[in-house]
Amino acid sequence: MQKALDLFQRISSDLINDEKSHPVSDYIPSKRLYKQLDFALRDNPISEKEFEEVLREIVFASPRTATPSFFNQLFGGRNETAVLGELLSVLLNNSMYTYKAGGAAVGVEKSVLRSVCNTIRWGEDSDGTFASGGSLTNFMAMLMARDTTFQDVRKKGMHTPITVYTSEESHYSIPKNAAFCGIGRDQVRYIATDKKGKMIPQELIFQIEEDIDDGYVPSFLNLTAGTTVLGAFDSIEDLLPIARKYNIWTHVDGAYCGSVIFSNRYNNLIKGLQGVNSFSFNAHKMIGTPLTCSLLLVKDKTQLYRSFSNEASYLYQTETDEFNPGQTSLQCGRRNDALKFWALWKSVGTKGLEKIVDKQFALADIARNYVKKHPDYELHSFDDSISICFSYKGTDAKTLCRELYENNTLLVSYGERKNQDFVRLVTINAQNEEKDILDFFKLLERFVQENKSTQSASSISEPQDV
Ligand SMILES: *Cc1c(COP(=O)(O)O)cnc(C)c1O
Repeated sequence: MQKALDLFQRISSDLINDEKSHPVSDYIPSKRLYKQLDFALRDNPISEKEFEEVLREIVFASPRTATPSFFNQLFGGRNETAVLGELLSVLLNNSMYTYKAGGAAVGVEKSVLRSVCNTIRWGEDSDGTFASGGSLTNFMAMLMARDTTFQDVRKKGMHTPITVYTSEESHYSIPKNAAFCGIGRDQVRYIATDKKGKMIPQELIFQIEEDIDDGYVPSFLNLTAGTTVLGAFDSIEDLLPIARKYNIWTHVDGAYCGSVIFSNRYNNLIKGLQGVNSFSFNAHKMIGTPLTCSLLLVKDKTQLYRSFSNEASYLYQTETDEFNPGQTSLQCGRRNDALKFWALWKSVGTKGLEKIVDKQFALADIARNYVKKHPDYELHSFDDSISICFSYKGTDAKTLCRELYENNTLLVSYGERKNQDFVRLVTINAQNEEKDILDFFKLLERFVQENKSTQSASSISEPQDV
């Protein structure tokens, strides 16, 4: 093992050094991928030297997600304490189904879950679990809603059509999960949003009443804490009473921005969370742990047992259910995703988590102010969000983002809303500083000036100033 660790040490040190001068790895057109790198698996072993070389090539060719030039998705950065926790969980290779196989890891996971429940002021009846992504924690929430609406559905299958409600700006996992659950994509109701991307309460009421009249049974309301494009927060306070009135399970999908629970300054964005049935968030997004670290919290833990436990005498041989987390999870074998989060939390404290979250909003303010102040930009997003959506000098956002990528300049993506395309800058890397955000704009401006192809016909004739 020591040899492998030495190799890891060499390659990772070289990568981290190289990232300083090359924050974006060289773009490889997908057409050339299999020609450029040696992926082929052969009958015979290769020498240690060749092996090191090929590993190094793949590592160096991979997209760099921890540098100040990566703004492409809803994750980024490299928190060293969390990385350390992740490396140790790989080395230990425990599985989370039983106490016998997990041991101390069960204590780590349960402590994280308990502390999150305490943070949202849920009592002893609450609990949770981890799943391999926000799509799957959302899936688990929808299943619990379905099983609550019809207690016999686990045995008999679906018999009466049920409906689920989510905003038109919510994540695509909602319709996907409705298909998995046997609810069906056609029974997903996309509720209209206001100008700032929040679900409109009156529209929700209209839709529920119409569905009841048509013979459907409303079952699940999904509210989003941080929509994928705008980073908007549905108002839990306004929408939860509607769900309660119609006996609908309320889930908050906080995959992107649910981590605001750790911030005294920003937890007002999820005011009312204490009253919902379930809540999920990805610590690999705002908190910055390595992928994946997705938590599902449930106010009444009996719902978790009801939907996910199963008899398995070959597996559950010692201890009570509390120490056998396999009784409440989607998977059987499951990796220890809690250790990286626990390691970070333990070392920086809840106050440290709060700083991480607040820093992202501070960076977002810097970016938004820059866009507002510069007449060449147009802002399409709103305050209290870490997504900054903008257009620049009439450039086409899709072309601009693609060319920035293909020229190894910046990794940033575009978004679309109400027939408007724009660049979406996400300030999720809390290790960035003001300078990194300002450098982003400088790089983008210089790139547009030097690359006429990014300029749309209407803007080419305008004078260029940087
Ligand atoms: C990222 C995201 C998800 C999906 O999470 P994965 O871990 O990528 O599966 C779900 N909902 C929202 C709002 C997200 O931003």
